[in-house]
Amino acid sequence: MASIPKMLTYQIPEGMSIESGSRVVVPLRQSEKVGVVVSVKEEGDEIPGLKPILRVLDEQPLIPRELLDLLLWTSRYYHAMPGAAISLAFPPYLRQARTPLFPDEVRIFRTGTGKGVIGRKQQDILESVTEQGLSPERFREMFPGGTPSLNALIKRGFLERRPFFPVQRSALATSEVSYTQEQKAAIEEISGALCRRRFNTFLLHGITGSGKTEVYLACAMKALDMGLSVLYLVPEIALTPQTISMIQKRIPCEMAVIHSGLPEAARAREFLKASRSRVSFVLGTRSAIFSPLKNLGLIVVDEEHDHSYKQEEGIPYNARDLSILRAKNNQAVVILGSATPSMDTYVKSTKKATSLLTMSSRTGSASLPEIEIVDMRGVVNPISDQLFEAIRETLSGNEQALLFINRRGFSAALVCPGCGSTIKCIRCDKSLTYHRSKGMGLCHYCGFSTPMPEVCPKCGCLDMRQIGMGTEKILHTVGELFPGARILRMDSDEITTSKKLTQALDAIRNREIDILVGTQMIAKGHDFPHLTLVGVMHAEQLLFMPDFRAGEHTFQQVVQVAGRAGRRAADTKVLIQTLIPDHPLIRSISEYDYEGMISSEREVREATGFPPFTHMARCIFSSTSNELAMKTINEAALRLNSREIRLMGPAPAPISLLRNTYRWHIILTSKDRGKLHAALDRLEGMQTPSGVRVKIDVDPYSML
Ligand code: ADP
Ligand code: ZN
Repeated sequence: MASIPKMLTYQIPEGMSIESGSRVVVPLRQSEKVGVVVSVKEEGDEIPGLKPILRVLDEQPLIPRELLDLLLWTSRYYHAMPGAAISLAFPPYLRQARTPLFPDEVRIFRTGTGKGVIGRKQQDILESVTEQGLSPERFREMFPGGTPSLNALIKRGFLERRPFFPVQRSALATSEVSYTQEQKAAIEEISGALCRRRFNTFLLHGITGSGKTEVYLACAMKALDMGLSVLYLVPEIALTPQTISMIQKRIPCEMAVIHSGLPEAARAREFLKASRSRVSFVLGTRSAIFSPLKNLGLIVVDEEHDHSYKQEEGIPYNARDLSILRAKNNQAVVILGSATPSMDTYVKSTKKATSLLTMSSRTGSASLPEIEIVDMRGVVNPISDQLFEAIRETLSGNEQALLFINRRGFSAALVCPGCGSTIKCIRCDKSLTYHRSKGMGLCHYCGFSTPMPEVCPKCGCLDMRQIGMGTEKILHTVGELFPGARILRMDSDEITTSKKLTQALDAIRNREIDILVGTQMIAKGHDFPHLTLVGVMHAEQLLFMPDFRAGEHTFQQVVQVAGRAGRRAADTKVLIQTLIPDHPLIRSISEYDYEGMISSEREVREATGFPPFTHMARCIFSSTSNELAMKTINEAALRLNSREIRLMGPAPAPISLLRNTYRWHIILTSKDRGKLHAALDRLEGMQTPSGVRVKIDVDPYSML
C-alpha cells in the first residue's frame, strides 16, 4: 500500500466487479501497487486517459464502508495522507498483494433435499454428516476411496460443500456474580441505551476495585445477545495473557485479539476473523479501534485516561477519541471507564455529551486504603523511618509491599561537584541515567549508552556525585535494610518480554515475592490480592514536567498505584514520600479528592486557555541544522498566525536535541476548532527545505 498525498482514480475494466473496501492491484509509475478502493464512480462519469485496475485481490471488501469513512476522517483531522490513514486498518501482511491468505475451511453439509434412490454406501456417507458438517480429511479417513460416491451425492443435491465458520461456545456462559447496587445501576443504564440502538457515551467513573470489569462484561454480553458486535480496548500494558484468558472465560464465543505485538501472520489472521464476521468480539489495544467488525453495538475503553491510547509515532491518533466517533457513526454505545478519568472526558460528562455513572465503593468488604503523606524535607535516606517501619510490619505479617518510583536505573544523573557539569548523552541534550547493573550510563531518550566515567571529563574532579534515584537504587537500599526479603524489580530493563511479565505476575500471586519495586509498569490495572502496603517515592516527580497536564497526571499515577493495595484485605496502607507535603495536589491525592483536583486544575486551565477549554495542536520542526530548523519554524509561525489563534513559541522543544537532531516547536490553541485546522492546512501548504522535518500533532499529549 503506497502512502501518496492524494487519492488516485482508475478505470474499472469491463466485467470486473469492485466494491469499496477491497484491495486492488494498480499500475503506479513504473510498478504495480496495492491500493484500497475508496469509492466507485457511476457509469457515465467516464474520465478519458485513466489507467485500468489490474486485479482485484478481495472479492468481498475487507473493511466495511463505515470504517473506511472513519479512516478518511482520521486522515483529515490529523492532517495525514489518506493512504497512510487507510493503512492503519490493514495489518502489514495485507498491505501487500498476498491473497488468499487463510482460505476458509470448507466442509461437507447436508442440504435437506436431493432426489432419487441412493445406495447403501451413499446412505452411510449421508448419515455421517452431522450438523457441524464433515471435513474433507475426516471424510477420507472414514471412507477411503469414497470420493466418487461423495461427488455423486453432491451432484444429485443431497450434499454440498461450503465454507465453515467455527463458533466455539465455551462451557461457562453465565456468570455467577451477584452485582453490587452500583454495578446493577450502571449495567441497567447502559443496557437501556443498547436497547434503544442510539449513540451514547458513558463515563464509568468507578474507584479502583469497584468492579468496572464486571460492568463491561455484562454490557458486552447484552450486546452480543442482541446480535451486535463488541470492541473491547485496553491499554497496552494491561493486555497480558491473564487479561485475555479472564475475558475469554467470560465471553462465551470465539474472539479476536488484536495488538501490534503479534507476529504479522497472526495479526492478519485476527483481522480476517473480524473482517469475515467469524467473530463479533474483538479485544485489543489502541490499533484495534480500526478492526473491521460489522454491526458494532458497543465499544469499551478501559482505563480511558491511559496515554497508550494516543499514538505518538506516525499518525498521532487517539483511539479513545476515535471510539466516540466510531460509535456515533454506528449508533453504538461507548463506555469510557476509569478510576481517574482524564480531565477531557470528565469535563464532557458535566455537559450533555457524556453520561456520568459513578461507582464509589469497592466490591466486598474492602475499602480504599488510607493514604499517609511523609515529609521528606531534610531526610537523607531514600526510605523514610515511617516507610521502613511499615515494610517491616508487612513482612512480619507475611504480606506484600510495593514500592513505586517513576524512574528506572540507579541514579538520575552524575554531577561533578567541582565544575557543576553533568554527564550528558552525546546525541541529546539530556543527562545520562546511571544503570549500575549494566555499569553504564544510559540515555532514556535515545537509548545511547556508555561506561560512566569516574573522573569528571571537564575538570578532572575525582568525586562525581550521583543525584536522584531510580528502581535500582531502591532495590539496593531495600535489600540492605531487609536482607532476608525476596525482592523483585519490575521495570522495562528487567521485564523485557511478555513471558517475563507473566512469570513476574505469577510469582507475586503465588507469594514468592515479598517486596516489589517498580515503575509505572506495575501502577495500573493489576490485581495483587496479598498486597497490603504501597510506598510511593518522589510523588512530586511528574508534577514539575513542562506539561499543562502535569497535575492531572500526577494525581492519576499516584492514585492508580495506591489502588493496587488492599483489594482483598482490610488493613492496608499507602505511604507517599514527597518534598512538597503541603502542595494542594498532594493533599487532594491523600484524600482521593478527584473532584477537588479537577476543580482546581480546571480553574487554571480555563484561566490560561488550555484544553479542554481550547483545542490544541503542536508542530515540531526538526533538523540536523539548528539554524535551519529555527529559520523554518519562524517562517511557519508567520503562516500560522491568525486571529483567534494563540501561538506559543516558536521555542526549542523541552527535548531540544534528540539523536543529533535539533527540535523546535510551536503550540497553537484556539477556541475555534475550524480556525485551528485552517491554520494547519496553511502550514501543510508551505514548502519546507528538504533538511527539515515537520510533524503536526493534533490534540497532543506529549509536550516534550
Ligand atoms: P476495577 O477495574 O473497578 O478496579 P475490578 O473490575 O478489577 O475493579 O474488580 C475488582 C475485584 O472485585 C475483582 O477481583 C472482581 O472479580 C471482584 N468483583 C467484581 N464485582 C464483584 C461483585 N459484584 N461481587 C464480588 N466481587 C466482585
Ligand atoms: Zn540520547
